[in-house]
Amino acid sequence: MTSRVLTGIATLSVVGCARAPQPRAQVEAGRVETNWYAGGTDCTNQPQFRVQPYNDDFIIMRQAACTNYEKPFLYLVFGRDRALLFDTGAGHVDVAARVDTLIQSWLSRKHQASIALVVAHSHAHGDHVAGDSQFVHRPNTIVVGRDTAAVRAFFGIQHWPADSGSIDLGGRVLDVLPIPGHQPASIALYDRRTGILLTGDTFYPGRLYVGDTAAFANSIDRLNDFVAHHRVTHMLGAHVEQSRTPYRDYPIRTVDQPEEHQLDLGRAQLVELDSVVRKMRGHFTRTALRDLTVWPQP
Ligand SMILES: [Zn+2]
Ligand SMILES: [Zn+2]
Repeated sequence: MTSRVLTGIATLSVVGCARAPQPRAQVEAGRVETNWYAGGTDCTNQPQFRVQPYNDDFIIMRQAACTNYEKPFLYLVFGRDRALLFDTGAGHVDVAARVDTLIQSWLSRKHQASIALVVAHSHAHGDHVAGDSQFVHRPNTIVVGRDTAAVRAFFGIQHWPADSGSIDLGGRVLDVLPIPGHQPASIALYDRRTGILLTGDTFYPGRLYVGDTAAFANSIDRLNDFVAHHRVTHMLGAHVEQSRTPYRDYPIRTVDQPEEHQLDLGRAQLVELDSVVRKMRGHFTRTALRDLTVWPQP
């Protein structure tokens, strides 16, 4: 009964409006943990990475705090033909072995013999590229270069940073958005299948270090515009430095963060950041917001 009524209304609305928006594909379901505690200083019996599948084809990894205080997040996304690893960790950590285990288990679940691997970076800072050398000689693997020219060329970005690029992993397209400001080669990745937007060090619950304030302001503006026009389910960055207490972050180099803010940020925080950053154009100052801090670098 209900569905018949709804169908009638839907038909009427299509007839009545020639420019009705096209129905968009559903996003895939998944789950982001609210608590990503990375442990304390003691590495005894502590795996180097905490791993949580968002769903079968999208894996979230976090480096244990005892291995490096930055405890960055890494992401492994599977298409039919290629997997993409977004960042390779900080300091000395055996990231390739963990990634290989995850890929092997994906392959056996899919009854597939092999899959190519693309290793890309949210940006070129040391705490996101430290494991690169472990992948350089891995078979069937491409490690994307770290500078702007290499990122542009690989993802087919015509004009940096105004244009976006993309990569098709096989039945899974990721959009690549240049977002310089924190670092010149910063990018965000948008996964059309889950609606997840990966924002690196540009937007996360913590200290948003801004190197180039004008570029950062433009990037946040473009990111905000992108989110307004796409179905974004989660915005996941590369660190958590904020505590659960509003306006309060953990001091720099804190290892043990038992009362951390959740990883996932939403559109409200991005809209707020955009409006704050717009007002600061030309005169950036350190500004604490409820869930993050804008932190211009000298
Ligand atoms: Zn960084
Ligand atoms: Zn970082």
